Amino acid sequence: MYWQETIGRSSLRFIGVAGVGTLIFLLLVAFGLKRIAYKDNNQRATAATGKSEFRGDRAFETLKKVVAIGPRPPGSPEAETLRQLIRSEVEAAGLEVRVIPFEADTPLGKRSMANLVAIVKGSQDGIIALSNHYDTKYFEEFRFVGANDGGSTAAWMIEMARALGPMRDGRTVWLIWFDGEEALRDWSSTDSLYGSREMVRHMRKTKELADLHALINVDMIGDCYLGIFRDAGAPSWLSNAIWKVAAELGHGRHFLAESRIVEDDHMPFRLAGKRAINLIDYEYGGSQLEHSNTWHTANDTIERVCPASLQAVGDVIYHALPAIERALDAQARLN
Ligand SMILES: [Zn+2]
Repeated sequence: MYWQETIGRSSLRFIGVAGVGTLIFLLLVAFGLKRIAYKDNNQRATAATGKSEFRGDRAFETLKKVVAIGPRPPGSPEAETLRQLIRSEVEAAGLEVRVIPFEADTPLGKRSMANLVAIVKGSQDGIIALSNHYDTKYFEEFRFVGANDGGSTAAWMIEMARALGPMRDGRTVWLIWFDGEEALRDWSSTDSLYGSREMVRHMRKTKELADLHALINVDMIGDCYLGIFRDAGAPSWLSNAIWKVAAELGHGRHFLAESRIVEDDHMPFRLAGKRAINLIDYEYGGSQLEHSNTWHTANDTIERVCPASLQAVGDVIYHALPAIERALDAQARLN
């Protein structure tokens, strides 16, 4: 054949190496495409069987009410309607609620915003905060209801208030709903995290920041295909405590070994020297392709959120609280 006569031995060797290289390349592409294209069925949350006081079905019913309000961008009447819903539900569970209003300068002008804090009074000194954002990203072009992004955690936190109740043994727990997590225009250090940045300022002023022992932020945890990345910036003892409880409760497949760094409401606290972790499902729908079709789109609707996912994260955090406290106590003994 022609090519055998014209190419030498070294060229043949080159073709051989190139052939193996191409094969490896094609395999990698196929693997990558599979990861991008298909939902990770392993991450599909199933039974909403509770392993704590937290009830995923009840959280989901609350989420329906949240989504029915419509888009809830900062400063909107809908944001105020949601604040009233949070307040009435949480007060009905017997918890004290603080509203902390503030004005924020945004690329769209001044906006009135407010953070909410529900307090579970502890028997011991110190505060552990569970936080989330309740605002939805403002889009002019389409109706964004943020069932998962903004909605899921706002409802999840209301259910956590019901599960924990007004008092507990151990540290005081603050349940925080931040306003203005989303950028009004494009994400930047000044156009994002309005509520959490304000909260750090507020807690410095009231001197409560010194009492804050740890903060656990949750975001987008209602995804039916639930997969929460490890937070590469979090203290390892804190993620280990949570991941261990997840494995013990049989929710290990939703708490991934892979880690990511995602800028979120925990960041201002971390910058202030506080121990903080972000629990986020940053692959909405169980694949990168689904994520790009749903995240910050009109497809972020209630059909893509599952009570079982809310339940899984609820169970894990409910049981992780005492584990985190034991780890904090052990550290305090060392110091
Ligand atoms: Zn968002």
